[in-house]
Amino acid sequence: MTMVRSRARHDPHTEPAAEALRLVKVTKSYGTADSAVTALDGVTLSLARGTFTAVMGPSGSGKSTLLQCAAGLERPDSGIVRVDGTELTRFRRGRVGFVFQQYNLLETLTVAQNTVLPLKLAGRRVDRRRVTETLTAVGLGDRLGHRPDQLSGGQRQKAAIARALVAEPRVIFADEPTGALDTRSARDVLALLREAVRTHGRTVVMVTHDPVAASWADSVLFLADGRLAGRMDAPAADAVADRLAHLGDDAPVGV
Ligand code: ADP
Repeated sequence: MTMVRSRARHDPHTEPAAEALRLVKVTKSYGTADSAVTALDGVTLSLARGTFTAVMGPSGSGKSTLLQCAAGLERPDSGIVRVDGTELTRFRRGRVGFVFQQYNLLETLTVAQNTVLPLKLAGRRVDRRRVTETLTAVGLGDRLGHRPDQLSGGQRQKAAIARALVAEPRVIFADEPTGALDTRSARDVLALLREAVRTHGRTVVMVTHDPVAASWADSVLFLADGRLAGRMDAPAADAVADRLAHLGDDAPVGV
């Protein structure tokens, strides 16, 4: 069993590092009987609040499944998922936010309407000023009334990040958020995610296949065959690429 602890960036004079996300022996298979695929094979990890973690691994290693289970979008076959010390249930999904590679914005709604949609669906109060502030903070202050097809890919992803932020989730999960973006837009999006962590104390977990994107995180968790296969703190892009290239060469590296 492997236990992963992230170092929190916190002020020791205020509060101790609190746990934002905990997975205990989370297992998930798809299919049945002889056609079953084990996507996650007993993953245990703990991430402190206010940390930015990248998840990497070969295609099919279980990265998306890990995110989906941790975010409550998929139900694990067994194991426990806790967000902020509380077990995640269907009714507590407001505690997490999700950012997808393909943005998942509704084309018929404006940027502002897309941003407030999760709040409305959850029956939560919409603070218009906060919505405008959040959209301004991600650089879309002059795009509130635009529809997604009037935005660039980078701007769409910023709108998706604003949509996640405005609900003030404990943890933001991002699955390949820069996968469809050019280098410059990718950098803007990564800077926003890091800002959410540094300035607002959010916890971000991001799946990526890009070692440069991963280097924006505080640490990288490596997955192989549905299991944790290593961890790297203060990841530099070339060290990440090197570790990725050698994943599975030998026994799991010190997690
Ligand atoms: P990654 O994100 O690392 O590429 P995934 O979590 O998408 O990995 O997939 C892990 C394994 O689970 C793969 O073998 C994949 O084919 C399988 N898998 C993922 N989702 C499904 C699904 N909905 N139905 C069947 N198999 C799936």
